[in-house]
Amino acid sequence: MDKGNQLTEKRQGGSRSASGVRAHIALGSNIGDRRGNIRSAIEKLQSVSGVRVTEISSVHETQAVGGPPQGMYLNAVVEVECGLSAAELLKQLQCIENELGRTRPGKDFPRTIDLDILLFGDEVIDEPDLKVPHPRMHERAFVLDPLAEVAPDAVHPVLGKTVAELKQTLCRAKSGKSA
Ligand code: AMP
Repeated sequence: MDKGNQLTEKRQGGSRSASGVRAHIALGSNIGDRRGNIRSAIEKLQSVSGVRVTEISSVHETQAVGGPPQGMYLNAVVEVECGLSAAELLKQLQCIENELGRTRPGKDFPRTIDLDILLFGDEVIDEPDLKVPHPRMHERAFVLDPLAEVAPDAVHPVLGKTVAELKQTLCRAKSGKSA
């Protein structure tokens, strides 16, 4: 695990007209300058109008899950205050992925940067191109570990558990104990 390194300065009030929904975004990279890719993505997010980055987790180094054999990931999570809709935020994240050279050769292939909306306040969205909460977030330690650093109290609006509780449940399941 590659923890304890802050990626970038939080830019309090640096973005314009952000308010409203507390949302959480997962970042992952396993190609090229992984730390630089994550740092650049956060800097780009900080300059999106209507988005204010309020918390940044440390960086965790994790094994790739699924897909072809590939290198280790660096993962992090940011908390934002978001004046955009979830669909608008997704568009901004996809622009940032494209600007950082993201290609999509297939599912679970290595990537320069991956940006996923985990939680968007207490909204539950089930559209073909946008599912919130992220459907697999509660099964993934590489998501829950950094998320628990920035938002242990955030509640999963479908499962009705806090992030800290989801992390504990996953830890217990992995160690073979009942939750
Ligand atoms: P990937 O970049 O491989 O994680 O997958 C991106 C695809 O997942 C895009 O087509 C998105 O429209 C879709 N998607 C569905 N729900 C989400 C979400 N919560 N966050 C990011 N992408 C999502």
